[in-house]
Amino acid sequence: MKLFGTMKTNSEGVLEIGGKSVYELKKEFGTPLYIMDEAYIRETCKLFADNFKSSVLSTEVIYASKAFLNVAMAKLISEEGLSMDVVSGGEIYTAIKAGFPMERVYFHGNNKTRAELELAIEHGLGTIVLDHRQEIDTLEAMLKEKGKTQSVLLRVNPGIDAHTHDYIKTSKLDSKFGESIYDEDIYALTKKLSESDAFDFKGFHCHIGSQIFEEKSFIQAALAMVDFAVDVKEKTGVTVEALNLGGGFGVYYTEEDDPMELGAFLKHLVSNVESKLSEVGLPSLKIMIEPGRSMVSNAGTTLYEIGGTKETYGGKDYIFIDGGMTDNPRPALYSAKYEGAIANKMNEKSTRTYTVAGKCCESGDIIIKDIELPEAVPGDLLAVSTTGAYTYSMSSNYNRNGRPAVVFVKDGSARLAVKRETLEDLVRNDVL
Ligand SMILES: *Cc1c(COP(=O)(O)O)cnc(C)c1O
Repeated sequence: MKLFGTMKTNSEGVLEIGGKSVYELKKEFGTPLYIMDEAYIRETCKLFADNFKSSVLSTEVIYASKAFLNVAMAKLISEEGLSMDVVSGGEIYTAIKAGFPMERVYFHGNNKTRAELELAIEHGLGTIVLDHRQEIDTLEAMLKEKGKTQSVLLRVNPGIDAHTHDYIKTSKLDSKFGESIYDEDIYALTKKLSESDAFDFKGFHCHIGSQIFEEKSFIQAALAMVDFAVDVKEKTGVTVEALNLGGGFGVYYTEEDDPMELGAFLKHLVSNVESKLSEVGLPSLKIMIEPGRSMVSNAGTTLYEIGGTKETYGGKDYIFIDGGMTDNPRPALYSAKYEGAIANKMNEKSTRTYTVAGKCCESGDIIIKDIELPEAVPGDLLAVSTTGAYTYSMSSNYNRNGRPAVVFVKDGSARLAVKRETLEDLVRNDVL
């Protein structure tokens, strides 16, 4: 298992994160447990802020909160001076509860409900990223009724196929998100946005996908967005003030993944946009990015207790853990792969091949297939690394399992960010 941030093996061969051994964490908080390495998250925030900057353009790093969000995380992002994007009323409400500066919030989504839009407008949420023409009409009517003006971006689809890094006009034109830049109506839409009293039109947004490793895909998309801004200026006279280039920067889960070196990549991205803008003669504008996964994934570890092992007649040997697809649905959802270790036997040789299975009533409840580990016995602790993104935020109560607690560890201390769900929590909304 690759160690990230402050993870290390102590003199007893036990995994430590943020200066806390997994034994201490288990004793204090129980298992399963989401452990977030706070110093490492803050370091990553700074890495983004320090490298995504320019002497000629203004820049903004927006954390895509759907990757991992709770009040503690929103406070951390606020303290680091970053902005945040949200995609639901629940995420907006979390930001409000955290006292997050609402002017630094961006609201995305292809079907924002009226109630969510109301909540956003009422709390002075900074920018709404409009997805399609019907939504433009709905929001305009709401704003006119209230006599308010709202900053907006329009999500567009630049037709980049990130996984083949092809710039193909015919691909990706049927996405559920955004309006295509190849649709001639886009000019009329832009003109409408810039002329309406209800909107303060800032520019365009794009997001080409997730867990992408190709620097070229991001740069092609950014350059396509600049070309599009030129096109819009020529056809409508509207000068774009901002381009939001989205997120999707790939991270390490296993040896199969080869992520970009983030600092260098961000510098290349900025310098490519700078040269392109001066080449096409557009005035300086603001560029934004929206990292989610790459901000938190490697900073998270899930700790489980091993309840037992099972040697099957068919030859497969299982390790059973006290969590599973409820706290990490990614392997079951899209065959995501993870690394792991027996956290109290970090220095022992791997002698066995196990499949790590959860406790849910579902054969697909497998967290890791075929992992080499030392001999496991009941009571051992299993650590699964790189679980900071899209695990807690995608967790469920399937089989009426309570969600684990979330702790932030740093400099030898641990603070509870989210309490473990109790049996009482599980029937909280049941009508008795
Ligand atoms: C999910 C999402 C992101 C973040 O994606 P990551 O792969 O987590 O970096 C950014 N912007 C938008 C609009 C998104 O939907």
